Order: sequence, then C-alpha cells, then structure tokens
Amino acid sequence: MTYQDNIHANLLESRTYWESLEPDEIVEDALIGINTALLAPAPLSDTQWEYFLMRLGIRQCKTNLDGSVEVLAEMGVPESDISTVLIILETFGGYCDCEVFMNAVEKITEPVAS
Ligand SMILES: [Zn+2]
Repeated sequence: MTYQDNIHANLLESRTYWESLEPDEIVEDALIGINTALLAPAPLSDTQWEYFLMRLGIRQCKTNLDGSVEVLAEMGVPESDISTVLIILETFGGYCDCEVFMNAVEKITEPVAS
C-alpha cells in the first residue's frame, strides 16, 4: 500500500462514518470536505508526504495548521493542492500541526484498520 492508497481508503472509511451520523451542519461540512478530497487529484506524491511529515515534525505547533501551510508552500505545492491537503488532515483529526502527528499521520501512513 502507498500513502495515496491509504489516504483514499481512509477517506472512504471516514465518509462511511460521517454518513452514519444524523445529518446536521457539521456532518454536511465534513462530507463536502471528504468528497472534495476524494474527487481532487492526489495533492502530494508519497515522497512529498514523507518529506512534509519530516519537515513538519521539527516545528512548534501554534494550535493551528500554519506550520503545515508554510511547509507545503516552501515545497512549492500549489495553493489548490494545499487546500486539499488541509481537508485531508482535518478529516483525519489533524486540526493543528501537533494533531497531524497525534491523529492524522496513521491514516496517511497505515492501511485502513480492519
Ligand atoms: Zn497543536
């Protein structure tokens, strides 16, 4: 499995989870985000994901995703792809740079738990 396969499979799993909830504004927003990420072309190659996580890991979290945005911009990732990466991180529970490591990293690097 590649990171891109893991991300796709985990996005599908997240969609199934959100679809099982009572619909409200938060649920709808989450589903819009997930569907946007599923339809967008893979924003980063596996090598880029690896490099991104490595660079982000040595930064201090400012309780937002500013560090993630900065690293991606430094890598020359276009803004539309940065938006897709942020949706992916948030879908996997990464709402700030340290949560990327607490929650999102396993959904990026590991296959769907069965
Ligand atoms: Zn944080």
